[in-house]
Amino acid sequence: MSDRTDRVRGPLAPSTGVQRPLGIDDVEIEGGPFGRWQRINREAGIPLGLEQMERSGAVPNLRLAAGEGEGSFQGFRFQDSDLYKQLEAVAWEHGRLPGDGYRAFASETAALLARAQRPDGYLNSHYQMVKPDKIWTELEYSHEMYCAGHLIQAAVAAARAGLGEELMAVARRFADLLVQRFLVDGDDAIDGHAEVETALVELYRHTGQGSYLELARKLIDNRGRGLIAETGLGPLYAQDHLPVREADTAAGHAVRQLYLEAGVVDVAVETGDETLLACSVRRWEDLVATKTAITGGHGSRHDGEAFGERYELPPDRAYNESCAAIASIHWNWRLLLATGHGRYADLIERTLYNAFAASTSADGVRFFYVNPLQRRADLFEDAYLGRRREWFACACCPPNIMRLVASLGHYVATTDDDGLSVHQYVPGTIRAGGITLAVETDYPWDGRVRFTVRDTPGGEWTLKLRVPAWSAPGELIPDADGYAGIRRDWRTGDTFTLDLDMTPRLVLPHRKIDALRGCAAIERGPLVYCFEQIDQDGELDDLALTPDAQLRAVERDLPGIGRTVLIEADAVRLPPAPPDGLPYGTAPPESLPAPTTAVAVPYYQWDNRDGGVMRVWTPLA
Ligand SMILES: [Zn+2]
Repeated sequence: MSDRTDRVRGPLAPSTGVQRPLGIDDVEIEGGPFGRWQRINREAGIPLGLEQMERSGAVPNLRLAAGEGEGSFQGFRFQDSDLYKQLEAVAWEHGRLPGDGYRAFASETAALLARAQRPDGYLNSHYQMVKPDKIWTELEYSHEMYCAGHLIQAAVAAARAGLGEELMAVARRFADLLVQRFLVDGDDAIDGHAEVETALVELYRHTGQGSYLELARKLIDNRGRGLIAETGLGPLYAQDHLPVREADTAAGHAVRQLYLEAGVVDVAVETGDETLLACSVRRWEDLVATKTAITGGHGSRHDGEAFGERYELPPDRAYNESCAAIASIHWNWRLLLATGHGRYADLIERTLYNAFAASTSADGVRFFYVNPLQRRADLFEDAYLGRRREWFACACCPPNIMRLVASLGHYVATTDDDGLSVHQYVPGTIRAGGITLAVETDYPWDGRVRFTVRDTPGGEWTLKLRVPAWSAPGELIPDADGYAGIRRDWRTGDTFTLDLDMTPRLVLPHRKIDALRGCAAIERGPLVYCFEQIDQDGELDDLALTPDAQLRAVERDLPGIGRTVLIEADAVRLPPAPPDGLPYGTAPPESLPAPTTAVAVPYYQWDNRDGGVMRVWTPLA
């Protein structure tokens, strides 16, 4: 194990790259939305998750597999993965701030997993209990490698966060079995749900065992060669339609594609494979330009939880699974470390503050699986399109959210040989390479970020600050990567102030996005706004924004939400149009618009007050 891997107490420790990540304990987040999310994750989210590990069957299933429990298997064939993600969340939370019971939970669960694991290393409670004769025979939908991947990620987290090596021993036995069967013995099968690839590379980084990396590379090169049996959903669903190096657009199940991309970048970085990295960048550019919601969300179709076609971005039917936002952040973080390009940090910011943050209620105990950009009054699909829910039968999202929130500190700043780069602006302290930097800010409510050097190793170094693409260039001119570098012989006590432009913006969609034509949205800083019925004078769906609308930021403390900045926008109210035959005609409906004010709230704070109508995209008058 290299020195460097030892030092990075975070989810990712690549051995090369333009930027080097920090550990979760190198960055202390003290306030702001990130601080609030971490606090409620600790106080409310993780305790709820731990309770659900029993109630949902995840832990009882493993007791059955260990020959210790009564009853029958509960849940989906990938139920084990909920527990692994929950373990990972607990591990990062412990690494950030040790807590009562975390060590006991991790150690008891690792012991249970060791007892449930077969002598050959195989571990999957569903297949062991329900379909022992089908092990490894239905990989197109079995999720066996997918679950192994989440186990490996949890084990890496536990080891790096100081929760011991017990889980690592279980994970390595399983990983060694995968290597034996799918690399050494030459079985060319792959899992229908990509995930294990990125996990295997991290296990290689953590242990130095090259066969884990080799297996990850083989699994990536095997995809797109028709090795996944037909499931009725078609090869596109699992990205098996084209070899990874040949595909030029993200397609099929969004979460699968995005986890796959994380693994692709990991393998490319560790093997120095420039063409493999280039194919992922090519798909990124296409995806961002044509298939990304304004919130950073991905997946336009409920059918197959899939990306749509280029420019198919309906606000009401948008799927934007919470897990897709998380997977996108994983992918973009890998690309940022590999290339140093700020466009990836820009998209991480957009996704974190919007698609991702909206997944969780202000009190931290209710979650969205699907994150649309519009909610109509009918709500007939209220299972997933209604209000946030405490848990789900298919609960992939809540523990995934918890593991990312617990490890948010990892995504704030990086180092290189030249100094320190700050990618996300949060109040707190950053420590790296002998530098201690205090950050004071009220971001994202305010655009001023003040940095104070508390400690420095001496000599010149560069403080690199991301200048978000949405901010009008001020005194600081960013370089081609989107960063402004301040190189100095920094002394303890030196300060620097960054001022980002927080003027609210009226944003228009690309003309090819048919579903949004004639509409506009509002952004301020990194936040996308939406209109909720509760804040409007009159029916929300009768409002239209004026094209030259004046936008005014107003600070508020709202019940159910807490602190926020609302945007008041000049608008007009159209008279109600009662149904009268078909909703079409040869002349535009007569209307006498009356001036009014529409009030917008940050999208991530929606659905915390009532279950009313919401829209991000609003017609222009
Ligand atoms: Zn999910």
